[in-house]
Amino acid sequence: VTDTLQSIFDQGCETFKQNVAFTCDKQNLTYPELEQSSKHFAAYLQTHTHLSPGDRIAIQLPNCIAYPIVAWGALRAGLVLVNINPLYTKSELAHIYKDSGAKALILLSSSVELVSSFVSETDISTLVCLSNVPPTHQPQSISAVDFQEALQQGSKCQFQPVSAKADDMALLQYTSGTTGLSKGAILTHRNLISAARGFWDATEIFEPGNETFVAPLPLYHVYAFVAHIVLGVAYGVTSVLITNPRDIKAFTAALEKVPFSLFVGINTLFSALCQDEQFKKLDFSGLKFTLSGGMALDLSIARRWQALTGCEINEGYGLTESSAGVIVNRGKQCRREGSVGKPVDGVEIKIVGDKGQSLGVGERGELHLKGNQVMQGYWQNPGATDAVLKDGWLATGDIAKVDEDGFVYIVDRIKDMLIVSGFNVYPAEIEHVVNLMDGVLECAVVGGKTQDSNQTVQLFVVLKDNTLDTGTILAHCQRNLAAYKVPKVIKVIDTLPKSPVGKILKRMLKPD
Ligand code: ATP
Repeated sequence: VTDTLQSIFDQGCETFKQNVAFTCDKQNLTYPELEQSSKHFAAYLQTHTHLSPGDRIAIQLPNCIAYPIVAWGALRAGLVLVNINPLYTKSELAHIYKDSGAKALILLSSSVELVSSFVSETDISTLVCLSNVPPTHQPQSISAVDFQEALQQGSKCQFQPVSAKADDMALLQYTSGTTGLSKGAILTHRNLISAARGFWDATEIFEPGNETFVAPLPLYHVYAFVAHIVLGVAYGVTSVLITNPRDIKAFTAALEKVPFSLFVGINTLFSALCQDEQFKKLDFSGLKFTLSGGMALDLSIARRWQALTGCEINEGYGLTESSAGVIVNRGKQCRREGSVGKPVDGVEIKIVGDKGQSLGVGERGELHLKGNQVMQGYWQNPGATDAVLKDGWLATGDIAKVDEDGFVYIVDRIKDMLIVSGFNVYPAEIEHVVNLMDGVLECAVVGGKTQDSNQTVQLFVVLKDNTLDTGTILAHCQRNLAAYKVPKVIKVIDTLPKSPVGKILKRMLKPD
């Protein structure tokens, strides 16, 4: 890969002039409009701010029609994007702004007050707000400009194309923070383009310029960013951006009469959608491919989705450090239930044992990956980088096994594994068993500690209705699991804590 994001953007906009690139809340953005507006934004950044190529610029926005304009404008100005979850708390935001050294920030005016409280401790000198900022909230020390005003000003300036190289950093993408403080993964043009092409080529069913992708996952997460901002624009896709997938009414309305062909989701989202009466009435006849990633796909949910839509879910696997999906099921020809599929072309994998030895078919060990998608390292954190990157191989922190045909199965995260009476216990295995019960909506297993510091299995479960009790769940576990895996404590709760992407946040569940 020698292309840069700038070159695939120029080519996409030129080739797919007739197409709509993004829609959101009844607003359409065509490819020519995306080209024009992002150029104006890039010109604004070049002329009215002190940012130079290589500087970081943060986007703290939900999915909205401005997102692709801002992202592509910044990339065209040679800047490095830092995508940030707008729902992060003050300490999470402050951590990322200080760590990344971002000099500019694009945000909703409703976020300005929160950001103002720590902005002086960061390098941020420019704020661009979506919708006008009430004057009382304008931070004293930095210039805040309205986004539309910035586009206006940019339209009067000359845009200077920037020549980037494939190995330049394009994205400083912070990990989800599911297991702790998030780290900035350095992703280059080559990383992101390889990730987009790897997925597109693996599936073999999409036609450039002829696809509509549903985008319910946040663009600030690497999975959706690559699918819609990079891959979408490279292949002339129309991406239907969903601002809040929990508002299922608005979500369903956005898809009515839209012939969508790809649905990019995550287990918890499929679960919620399959239960919604309005959603069930949508026309799924154009749906060619459903992709699930980010967390394990539950088989009962996969089956319900297939029965509803007529389209099976293809589970894939990836992480921020691999620019999203690198292992994927590819539809009927190459799909195995319970597996995350096979590595895309150019990605090598190995399963590594405790002593660093390569393991064979069926053996469980840490999954290591190598390929053009793998990050360059963690931002200003050589210790963390050395812990996971060696000779181009990325240690994923996930336990996996590979079958005789090369299909990969994710067993669990190493960090989530429990040791109970000397046995390795994988919470995901217990969760799979519990999720098979009809009355269970979702569940999570975490480790509790006994007085002598042994770990115990503790189950948190959310029920669909009140037809189940903990005794029945326990009996089901006893029938289906070895004694040491059977939960010692079972707690019924109303909801599981989740990240905005929909990942279950086990660190927030407090065991006994
Ligand atoms: P952090 O590293 O900050 O704790 P995170 O690991 O959730 O957060 P991401 O890069 O968003 O950050 O997620 C990658 C992880 O998600 C993988 O390492 C893996 O544990 C999990 N994952 C992704 N896809 C799957 C899948 N199909 N099945 C099981 N787990 C998956």
